[in-house]
Order: sequence, then C-alpha cells, then structure tokens
Amino acid sequence: MSEPENCPLCQLAPTSLLWSDAYCLVIPAQIPGIGDFCRVVWRAHVREITDLVDADRHRLLNVVMGVEEVLRDLLRPVKMNVASLGNQVPHLHWHVIPRFQDDPFFPDSVWAAERRPPGVRQALSEDVLRTALEKRLSSVTKTPL
Ligand SMILES: [Zn+2]
Repeated sequence: MSEPENCPLCQLAPTSLLWSDAYCLVIPAQIPGIGDFCRVVWRAHVREITDLVDADRHRLLNVVMGVEEVLRDLLRPVKMNVASLGNQVPHLHWHVIPRFQDDPFFPDSVWAAERRPPGVRQALSEDVLRTALEKRLSSVTKTPL
C-alpha cells in the first residue's frame, strides 16, 4: 500500500499544476496520439471517493465535470472517457480523457494495445488550458455545497 511519503501524487511540484484550490489539483498528462488529457487529484491522500464526506464527493465530481467541459469545448472530441483507477497509485484521482476516432487506441481504452500509429494531434498550450480551467472552475468552487 502506498503511503503519503512515497506517493507521487503527494509529491507533485507546484509547476506541474494547471489549476488548484484547497481541495483539488488538476495536472496535465499525455499519451502519444491522445494529446491533452487531465488528471484531477484530491489533495488529501485517500484511496477511494467513498472515503470522502458527501460535500467533498460533490466538490470533486464538480471539478471532474468542469474539466470534461473545458476539454470538450477546446478539443471537440468524439467521446470523453472519465476513469478512476488508482491501482498503481492508490491516491484518489480521476483521468479525464478526450477521445478521437483516429487516436491509437479508439475504440478501446487508452490503456489497451494500440490499434494504429499515433497521429499528429497538436497538444494545447498549458496557458490555454490554465485560462479555460480557471474560468470554468472558479464558478464550480464558489458554488455553495
Ligand atoms: Zn498520495
């Protein structure tokens, strides 16, 4: 079992953040051919969403949905994949992944074997993502729970 002192999500460098508040962090991630996707990380080292009280569950899911909306608006994917696995890093986090019919794994998950070579999808600039996330998520976190 992972403990906070050797957990990579407890040791994130502030420079890797796209957005954060007192409860959640949003960090960028990339898989060749997928382009941008995001991970939404709960700040505290907990294993499962059911370890959180109701208000915190809602707060986390509102951030996950806000990130999904931002990626949909910016990238116009054919589908969004949202997943919470944590088998390798058991610190509560969600993957928010835009999917495209020509991505290397479609229609399988991004963790499946590649079906085709990666394309030339351009990554968004982190500044574009940061600006869009700040605009969308500021209203999420100001909403009374
Ligand atoms: Zn952790």
